[in-house]
Amino acid sequence: MTELLEVRELRKYFPVKGIFFTKGHVKAVDGVSFSIKKGETFGLVGESGCGKTTVGRTILRLIEPDSGEIVFEGKNVVEMGGKELLWFRRKAQIMFQDPYSSLNPRKTVFQIVIEPVRHYGIDVGDPEEFVVRLLERVGLNEMHLYRYPHEFSGGQRQRIALARILSVNPDFIVLDEPTSALDVSVQANILNMLRDIQREMDLTYLFISHDLAVVEYMSHRIGVMYLGKLVEVGDAERIFAEPLHPYTKALFSAIPVPDPEYERGKKVEQLVGEPPSPIDPPSGCRFHPRCRYAMDVCREKEPPLKDMGGDRSVACWLY
Ligand code: SF4
Repeated sequence: MTELLEVRELRKYFPVKGIFFTKGHVKAVDGVSFSIKKGETFGLVGESGCGKTTVGRTILRLIEPDSGEIVFEGKNVVEMGGKELLWFRRKAQIMFQDPYSSLNPRKTVFQIVIEPVRHYGIDVGDPEEFVVRLLERVGLNEMHLYRYPHEFSGGQRQRIALARILSVNPDFIVLDEPTSALDVSVQANILNMLRDIQREMDLTYLFISHDLAVVEYMSHRIGVMYLGKLVEVGDAERIFAEPLHPYTKALFSAIPVPDPEYERGKKVEQLVGEPPSPIDPPSGCRFHPRCRYAMDVCREKEPPLKDMGGDRSVACWLY
């Protein structure tokens, strides 16, 4: 598989405003690098506030990055403008978490789905037939064409949002917690549909979630974020089977296990305390105040993301 997207040293700081002066900066994304191959799902995980949503939105330039490169199909997105940016915005889409606020309540399903097609001037033949085909692909039908969002459940709204995304034939979709607002019974249907559509349309996903079981089910590769930094990146199966970074170990030990016998004999790490403030993160390794293995070097020097071989990188002085 060739790389579709490469993110290099991405940074985004948000100013924290006082009454008269800027009080500091939230270092939401602080030097993040990773790549996503064509056709794969890259899962981004971490506690809330670790910067994963900011990464997704900055890649799409919904938020402008402070520095770094975002290379999509060989072109640097950060330098794009005019027609090139329009092309990128069509090829790279986002599905939001909240199906209740992401659709315009005053528009019918037909208007919602056809809107981006008209915006980008795409010739789709008969617009009604085109929208019906898309609705059928996401498990809805022509009966839904002239209904309004309030008439649908959360799961159905996410299906409408997906039909709208697919209408412009994208290559890449940021899925930002796409099922976390839905009932568990509906989640599986949406996740399976996303996987089927990915195979059929050769789509590439950045899947952002705090739900580790869902990330494990969806992802080929994953990146684990802590306080604006990536601490472990690589093959999802290998990382879930044998996490290396102490933070990843602690995070994964919180995944509920259906059979407690399975856990017997495994050393369970505990994630203690809350993440420190991203305005003034700890020196050296940002995880050191919560890490049971912390050494002197951890407090002084930041560990680089080290290539461990076999598609695995870890930022920890233990390795
Ligand atoms: Fe723990 Fe040190 Fe590794 Fe950070 S670098 S995770 S403090 S052992």
